[in-house]
This record gives sequence, structure tokens and C-alpha cells, in this order.
Amino acid sequence: MKTLLLSLMMTISLAAHSHSVRGYAGGPLEIIELGHPTLRLTATDVTADEIQSETFQTFIDDMISTMKASGGVGLAAPQVNVSKRMFVMKSGFSVPLTVVINPKVKYLSNYGKKNSTEGCLSIPGKRVRVKRFKRIHLDYLNRDGEEISEEAKGFKAIIAQHEFDHLNGVLIVDFLDPFADFVDPEDYVSVPLM
Ligand code: ZN
Repeated sequence: MKTLLLSLMMTISLAAHSHSVRGYAGGPLEIIELGHPTLRLTATDVTADEIQSETFQTFIDDMISTMKASGGVGLAAPQVNVSKRMFVMKSGFSVPLTVVINPKVKYLSNYGKKNSTEGCLSIPGKRVRVKRFKRIHLDYLNRDGEEISEEAKGFKAIIAQHEFDHLNGVLIVDFLDPFADFVDPEDYVSVPLM
């Protein structure tokens, strides 16, 4: 089923680009919402061959343009119904555009946790207060298939944890304390979407 979803997605993606010059990001892709079963799957690794393929490279471009078009600071492949371990993130100058494939996250618990108020592009209209580790260690492949190993802190660490959760079928509502964690509507405007 996962393979079917991916190949279907790839086919659609390819079709959408058949009239485009290579490298042109023609998104946006459709973002699926809470209740869609793909959001609850554990996504599968991307193979080395897949990363090199034009189809997947185009998909990455579409993910980036979809993230930007939706006003998000992060977007994970399962959010566009592709159950693969890949996400993108970008926020102003503090978080440069990063393509993260097959990530391994080590939570650096000795630095502690902090509160984070987050919105999710797959859960429109809801903002949730969650606790995130202040720092993480992130190992992943970039879009060229190169191994990257880095420590992330600040907002980058927050986004990475939110997106990494998506790859494991975890959503911010899973952390919800129904009596405390929803944010007042007047606070909505400044909350990041991921
Ligand atoms: Zn999200």
C-alpha cells in the first residue's frame, strides 16, 4: 500500500512536470489532513537510487514550493501523502533551507526541554503547546545523498522534532492536554506552521 501510494504520487508528480523545464518547481502538492491514514503510518526509508532519480528530485522541489506556498516553516513527505522518510524546513535567516532524508535523531536531554507553541499544516486552525528538547543531534542524507551530521538548536531543533514526528505517524494532538494546551485564538497569528 505504501509503495502504491508513493508510485501513484510519483506518477502524478511526473505528469505535473511533463511540460516543465527540469528544475522548475511546479507545486503545490495537496496537503492531507488529520484523519487521513497516511499521517499515522511509519514512513519508510528512501533508497540511494531513489534519491538520485529525477522523479524524487522533482518531488523535493515540489515539497519546497508547497511548504513556501502554504506559509509553513517545515513540511514532511507524509503530509503530502507520500510515506517516505523525508522532510524540508526553512525559516527566515535562522533556519536555512534544509532537505532531510532518512534522519536519525538523538535527543540531547542534558540540555533540557522548552515549551513550543506549534501549528500543523495537516491540522488547520489548531495550535498546540508542546515540550521539545532544546537540542538534538541529527544525522541524515541531503538531496545529493551526502551524509550530514549536525547538532541543531533553537527553532531549527523545534521544526526538526515536529517533522521527525511526522515520519513516525506522530502528530502534535498526541501531546495534547485538553485542559491546558490549546492556545487562545488571539495568539494564533504568530504561531509557526509545520
Ligand atoms: Zn505538522
